[in-house]
Amino acid sequence: MKAVFIEGHGGPEVLRYGQRPEPAIADHEVKVRVRAVALNRLDTYVRAGVRGQRKQFPPPLILGGDSAGEVVSVGDRVTTLQVGQRVVINPRISCGTCSFCLSGDDDLCSSFRFLGSDADGSYAEFVSVPAANAYPIADQVSFQEAAAVPTVYLPIWNMLIRKAQLKPWETVLVLSASAGVGTAAIQVAKNIIGARVIATTSSQEKAARALELGADHVINYTSEDITARVKELTEGQGVDAVVDHVGAQFFEAAYNSLKRGGRYGVCGVTTGYQAQLQLGTLFTKQLRVFGVYMGSKEDMRQIVEMLNQGKIKPVIHQTFPLNQAAEAHRAMEGRSFFGKLVLTP
Ligand SMILES: [Zn+2]
Repeated sequence: MKAVFIEGHGGPEVLRYGQRPEPAIADHEVKVRVRAVALNRLDTYVRAGVRGQRKQFPPPLILGGDSAGEVVSVGDRVTTLQVGQRVVINPRISCGTCSFCLSGDDDLCSSFRFLGSDADGSYAEFVSVPAANAYPIADQVSFQEAAAVPTVYLPIWNMLIRKAQLKPWETVLVLSASAGVGTAAIQVAKNIIGARVIATTSSQEKAARALELGADHVINYTSEDITARVKELTEGQGVDAVVDHVGAQFFEAAYNSLKRGGRYGVCGVTTGYQAQLQLGTLFTKQLRVFGVYMGSKEDMRQIVEMLNQGKIKPVIHQTFPLNQAAEAHRAMEGRSFFGKLVLTP
């Protein structure tokens, strides 16, 4: 089959488009004809061999996690899916047998494999995954929209719905709203929860898009002070929750924007790992700082239900044919996009 793979780490030029063997399927797996793959930062980290993503070669590694397509064959023990069904794939494959998996907290499983990082991924014509990782999508949901969902909506669902338990009468600050995770956070906070949303972004054009998506206010972090502006917008109160997927750069400003009893969720550190935590305000204001990493299978089931009902609609910035994966990686590293970049095999 045709696939995009790497045989060593480096820039976008190491992405090879060529032939790889079609994946086999185990008894509990399904094989999916991939119709769309969405890019994530992880793809560029794996390609470059940074942030804990150094791999041993050979064998070559097919990149790609988030994807959607049609089931073309099912393993002998699969009873939940049939050939021809349209599905979206959750790229995080948990072990299914540890205490976390058995208690439904499979987002805490430490023996997981990630498609496109620990196993061959979905920058390919076909990919095989456990049936538990493939979720049927409704006819009106496009493959591209579905592929854009898992890695950005899972941490946001885990963070806002399950851990922060954001309420409709509360206000959330979403940092860097133009990235896929930011757009997901605005939609979940607004369309699912009904909360008030303050988003930050870097340009007027991106601000207009964030407002269109449902943000109530946008702070331009290149010209405005996040903490001061949040205080103004909340009558000096601050926000009830923060969605942080960028890490170091805005931590202090966003942390200082929290109201008493506020919750600060971190699901990414694209701008850096290290930040200063003011322990005094942590306990006197009774704040909570917590991390989330992807989400559980049950989170994914709920997300797909909302996707199928049209309550969340992923933002696609641009689609590239699979053989232009290098171009798509360059676009992702260029950062001048709003929403997701998608490849179509
Ligand atoms: Zn497990």
